[in-house]
Amino acid sequence: IEIKKYPRLTEVGAWRSGTNFQSGNNIDPNPHGGFYTQEEIKDVVAYAKDRYVTVVPEVELPGHSLAALAAYPELSCTGGPFKIPERWGIQEDIYCAGKEEVFVFLENVLAEVVELFPSETIHIGGDEAPKKRWSACP
Ligand SMILES: [Zn+2]
Repeated sequence: IEIKKYPRLTEVGAWRSGTNFQSGNNIDPNPHGGFYTQEEIKDVVAYAKDRYVTVVPEVELPGHSLAALAAYPELSCTGGPFKIPERWGIQEDIYCAGKEEVFVFLENVLAEVVELFPSETIHIGGDEAPKKRWSACP
C-alpha cells in the first residue's frame, strides 16, 4: 500500500528482482512487484462495501518486514543493507524492538492505514518473527 509519509516503501519495497514460485531452487529472474495507491485502496474498499464485504488489512509486524527494511534499513537491528527476498518464508531480520524510531514509523504507517480502511479490526500479524536479531541487539 502506498504510504505517503514513507515513499520508499513502494519505490523500493514493492519490487523484487525475481521470484521463487515453487519449492526448490528455481528462481524466475523477472522483476516482479507492485502496490495499491491510496486511491486504488479506496476503490477496493468501496467495491467490497457495495457487496457487504469489509476489507481487513494486514500490516505484518514485527516479522515479514524485510521489504520495508530494504527501504528503511535503519529500522532494523543491524542497519542492513537488505535485499528484497525472492523466496517465501521467514527471515531473521525484523523490525528492531529497541529503537523508538521503529514505533514512530509503525504508528505513522498505521495512522494512514486506519484512514483508508473502515474496518473495526486492523490485523498486525505477529507471527513468524524470530528473535535472533533482538537477542544480539544492543
Ligand atoms: Zn534491535
